[in-house]
Amino acid sequence: MSLTKYLMAAFLTTTMLASPALAQDEAKTVIIHAGTLLANPGEAPLTERSIILNGNRIEAIEAGFVQRDGAEIVDLRNAFVMPGMIDSHVHITSQLAPDARLKTVENSDADWAIQGAKHGKRTLEAGFTTVQDLGARGQDAVFALRDASKKNDLPLPRIRAAGYSLSVSGGHGDGRQGYNDDVAEVLHKDSICNGADDCRRAAREQIRKGADIIKITATGGVLSNTLAGFNQQFTNPEIEAIVDAANSMGRKVTAHAHGLDGINSSLTSGVMSIEHGTYLDDSSIALFKEKGAYLVPTVMAGDYVAKTAKDAAWMTEAQRIKSLEAGPLMLDMLRKAHAGGVKIAFGTDSGVSIHGDNATELVLMVEAGMTPQQALTAATVNAAEHIGMADQVGTLEVGKLADIIAVDGNPLENIERMRNVGFVMKDGIVYKSAL
Ligand SMILES: [Zn+2]
Repeated sequence: MSLTKYLMAAFLTTTMLASPALAQDEAKTVIIHAGTLLANPGEAPLTERSIILNGNRIEAIEAGFVQRDGAEIVDLRNAFVMPGMIDSHVHITSQLAPDARLKTVENSDADWAIQGAKHGKRTLEAGFTTVQDLGARGQDAVFALRDASKKNDLPLPRIRAAGYSLSVSGGHGDGRQGYNDDVAEVLHKDSICNGADDCRRAAREQIRKGADIIKITATGGVLSNTLAGFNQQFTNPEIEAIVDAANSMGRKVTAHAHGLDGINSSLTSGVMSIEHGTYLDDSSIALFKEKGAYLVPTVMAGDYVAKTAKDAAWMTEAQRIKSLEAGPLMLDMLRKAHAGGVKIAFGTDSGVSIHGDNATELVLMVEAGMTPQQALTAATVNAAEHIGMADQVGTLEVGKLADIIAVDGNPLENIERMRNVGFVMKDGIVYKSAL
């Protein structure tokens, strides 16, 4: 036998051996029997449905509890089944804590990655199958976690990541405040920019490194160690340059903004969403609607820092003062925006609050006047549209990804139920089964 023929024969044998196993794998069907199914959180729930999965995709949704030869049945007949939730504002690698400022100068990117893996697992097990990371400690860490989640190498939600937030020098996203000059020099990042051209460069740098979205800190913020207020920090030409650079490379820009001037300037400069929105008013509401922009309210972050600041001696003076000033305003901000008809996408700013407690935001949304169904829609349908993944996640429909969660009881009657998600499947893989 010639070498070519030998190799060919060997190849065929290997292929033939591999084929049946592969075929079996492909044919493996999983059927979820759902007692109540909220397939599209914008619509009424259905009862007694079967979700038929092929690998990581939904192949069919049928009435009744159907069986198929050789199919594996997941019994959720006593549960409330819905799409995996989406948190469009997290900081997966970090956690606000007494040692947070020390960790900034102690941790390597590897340390941040390990922290992120720990936080990500908790987030996934809380029913959040997709997250958007808007500003990481450890840029390489968050991109590595993002890539690992794509391959299901680790128990993590799907991750979209901004890398570092863009900020002006001395602005909210400039982490150098309060450190001595030697340390500050080491902490300098290429995401700090001043002037339109420099900011165009900074946006492009983030995209070069792998950013899925560009995050800017358009105004002052709560946890930066500086008493620089909540007003606009980037100029309009800087924001416009960032939006132009990002859009031309297929990325959207989202703006952290508390102050009214920064909220409105961001919206008029082409930013597609506002994170926080604390001091928005009727003029902002009109702009949101005119532009079709989303508000990501992060009420939970405001609530958490306001409570924490009351007795956290470890917070810096600037952090404490700003937490007590802005934190308590956020619930009313959401009430006003929702009543005014602004589109709301779910986001918690977790990493400020504790990773894994994300569902608390749903409870606060209901407190602010949203119905449980509207809150769940914000965390699925709306968030999916907001992060540009509506064709993949956010509802349970034929062809979409098998990101499926379940709870005991009916969260449309009591939103608190969402704090105890008992079943989590992401990408067709079961990560939690405790119902
Ligand atoms: Zn944030």
